[in-house]
Amino acid sequence: MTKTQLSDPELLRYSRQILLPEWDMDAQLKLANSRVLMIGAGGLGNPAAQILVRAGLGFLRLVDFDSIEESNLQRQFLFQSSDVGLPKVEVAVRELQKINPWTTLEAVDLKVNLANLPALLADIDLVLDGSDNFATRDLINQACVQAKVPLLSAAAIGLEGQIAFFQPAQGCYRCLFGNGLDDDTRQCAESGVLASTTAVIASLQAHHALLFLGLNQTPLANRLLLWNGITMQQRVLKFAKDSNCAICSHLGDKVSLK
Ligand SMILES: [Zn+2]
Repeated sequence: MTKTQLSDPELLRYSRQILLPEWDMDAQLKLANSRVLMIGAGGLGNPAAQILVRAGLGFLRLVDFDSIEESNLQRQFLFQSSDVGLPKVEVAVRELQKINPWTTLEAVDLKVNLANLPALLADIDLVLDGSDNFATRDLINQACVQAKVPLLSAAAIGLEGQIAFFQPAQGCYRCLFGNGLDDDTRQCAESGVLASTTAVIASLQAHHALLFLGLNQTPLANRLLLWNGITMQQRVLKFAKDSNCAICSHLGDKVSLK
């Protein structure tokens, strides 16, 4: 059901952003009517989900198959020492619901694959990928292309991270990265990550999600943002759709003219 107005407590809650010249009531209502699928309730998913839920997102489906480990607590803000051993999505949704009673939350405890992703993508406006490996990001990209759902992909490791936004028929993760990068097999478990790195990248990812959902702005469409946590500089590189891409090249003018 589409929300056409906000209650007084909601208006008070979101007053600091409704005050903004760039973010008005219309943007707040758009966010309240938005449906997001977030894959990964780890270092990226924890801060990104918290920002979107605090900002007033209407619906969040959170997917992860892991349980909370002691080594997660250094950077995964929704979890406490007493949560170790519990399923990540269960605890994350419990804590997010305490933060915002007006967001509808759904916890899905499973590992995504090409068979289960179409159902997870049903009725979704935007996917935030916070998974921790190339193979999963590639799978999510394939499913998003098939379902024609926009994808905001993020990755963070060590003291660096990156974000890219993919819109249906305008290029995809595979156009940008090819079918497997040897140097992208690093994971936090083996390579380490500073507590702040995932929070920085997740915040940028959540920020872009708000721009897209509330304002229909896509500053990172067909762009890759690279953040370096040593120099604290960021670069934004443009990329074009690969006309020979095995995943998305069949989506062209036919789709956009439909
Ligand atoms: Zn592609």
